[in-house]
Amino acid sequence: MNGLRKGNSRKRASVRALGCRLNQYESSSMENRLKNKGYELVPFGEKAELGVINTCTVTNEADGKSRSVIRKFVRTNPEAVTIVVGCYSQVSANEIAMIEGVDYVIGNHDKINFLDYITEEKPVDPVIVRDRISREDFSIGFVGDTNYLQRANLKIQDGCDFMCTFCIIPFARGRARSRDWNDLMTEAKLMLKKGVSEVVLTGVNLGTYKSEKKEFLELIHALSKLNGLKRLRISSIEPTTIPEEIFGLMADPSHCLMPYLHVPLQSGCDSILKKMRRKYSLSDMNQFFERASNKIPNLCLGTDIMVGFPGESGKDFEKTCETFMEFPFNYCHVFTFSERDGTPAAKMDDQVTMNERRQRSAYLRRLSASKRMAFHESQVGRELRVLIENPKNQQFSGYSDNYVKIILSEGFEEFSNKISRVKILEARPEYVVGQWVKFEN
Ligand code: SF4
Repeated sequence: MNGLRKGNSRKRASVRALGCRLNQYESSSMENRLKNKGYELVPFGEKAELGVINTCTVTNEADGKSRSVIRKFVRTNPEAVTIVVGCYSQVSANEIAMIEGVDYVIGNHDKINFLDYITEEKPVDPVIVRDRISREDFSIGFVGDTNYLQRANLKIQDGCDFMCTFCIIPFARGRARSRDWNDLMTEAKLMLKKGVSEVVLTGVNLGTYKSEKKEFLELIHALSKLNGLKRLRISSIEPTTIPEEIFGLMADPSHCLMPYLHVPLQSGCDSILKKMRRKYSLSDMNQFFERASNKIPNLCLGTDIMVGFPGESGKDFEKTCETFMEFPFNYCHVFTFSERDGTPAAKMDDQVTMNERRQRSAYLRRLSASKRMAFHESQVGRELRVLIENPKNQQFSGYSDNYVKIILSEGFEEFSNKISRVKILEARPEYVVGQWVKFEN
């Protein structure tokens, strides 16, 4: 099919990503394919002849959100070809096919190549394409004329084998598999050619990367050698999968691997970690994080903590708070436990009341805010290297090597897309204020 209307005007298409960073990455790849077929991309919510909704299914609420976005699209565009792809499609295809106006339901295995399965006219009945997700290495291949930002995500891996009891990902995204080495390197080189300064590695369980017998650490080494790469950053990574050799690379200011780690601990209480089927104890993790923060100067260390998991008593929660405060974390993202049908945790009988879950989350968020503020205060007076982004509302901002958001007290056009040295003047809860000093070579 192609994107031309009768009379040669272009058909309009829009894509909406729900959920995680991976969905966003994959949605831009789908947009590229649409552009390449001659479609005009319009913002989601405007009139279009074709719509793709890339869904999330991480909790029951995420399913609800996905359904409401689909319904809204169909209401605005009753004549459009409506394609629902992604994790919710993989897990609950029939449920989605029952929503009025949906034409195609495509699971994760085939979503990137969705154009191969659809026609220009609405089919009489909804078509479901949901293959089993294989364990083989995968390629993304065509990346087309991607407009990368100066900080761009590079997908290197998908799926997970860990089977934590609260998580649907091993079913929604399949088992762990890695992006073909050459396919990945080709996109990385293209990113650099297009002026990307910072490559952010993304995936579901990054540290388990393995393709052609090469593992995560070899990938870091190979990417760092690419000509023109200024910064390489690891997004969230599972604690048991981090090779400690990377501490030395993060500690070296001349190496492009940035001193930032976001490592989901999920709970600060051993008995809950066990019920979650996480693969470590607190004492292992404490030592590991101490080694990281001793070795890497000015490291920013963040974590995810899930609050109100079934069986979490008041004392268990207190223990989690103590752990968060004692470990060298600089902030945490707090997730309120929310049942996901089909996971073992949803069937556990000692569920915490929703009210209690919410109160605990609010408390832990306050603790996180206090640690983040202390971290920001510790940056005042330092000179940090900052990749300055394009100005928004005439304000220049960017992120430091250790991922602190910096707003410049004063900025000029020539700062954009360059790495500069910035003196930190003031700490605020969500960012710090800094003064430009000089361009960094
Ligand atoms: S490691 Fe992460 S993605 Fe894998 S099952 Fe556990 S929570 Fe889900």
